[in-house]
Amino acid sequence: MSDLVGRHSDFVVDVTPLRKQPGSVLRASRSGSLPGLCLSTVSVPDSHPVGVEADLAWASDDVVVTATVRARWVGQCRRCLGDAAGEVGTQVREVYEPSSDGEETYPLNGSRVDLAPLVRDAVLLGLPPAPLCDEGCQGLCPVCGVNRNETRCGCETSPSDPRWAALDALRDN
Ligand SMILES: [Zn+2]
Ligand SMILES: [Zn+2]
Repeated sequence: MSDLVGRHSDFVVDVTPLRKQPGSVLRASRSGSLPGLCLSTVSVPDSHPVGVEADLAWASDDVVVTATVRARWVGQCRRCLGDAAGEVGTQVREVYEPSSDGEETYPLNGSRVDLAPLVRDAVLLGLPPAPLCDEGCQGLCPVCGVNRNETRCGCETSPSDPRWAALDALRDN
């Protein structure tokens, strides 16, 4: 996966102007596709460009990046197993430094800031682990299996399935 990031250049920002003008902020806007953005049943298709708006500022030897990352995802509804879709909008503040260990910070290569790994991490953090097609999705009938968004089956089930309540509680935390 790091190979993919390393080859990708859509998200590279040259921060040479910051070196020349300490204290200034460089605003950069980038978009492109990042392969491999997925989490369980949720993914960002390669055909959906991921966007980032970033403010880059020089701080001694490091570059501080404040960014908003946006990506459209598709997935499978956890209740009815139908299509679900939505958008990630995540704000992050990260540091690029020349001697990065690649964990707490991102590597700064000369005047080259590659936003791709930051964007990747932000999108993965923002993807919903158990999405819904709609907040009001009625799900599948646990008795006969019909999609209750489309059909009323009349089976006797409790109106709030405790399994969903548990999932909802997890999701809201
Ligand atoms: Zn659904
Ligand atoms: Zn039923």
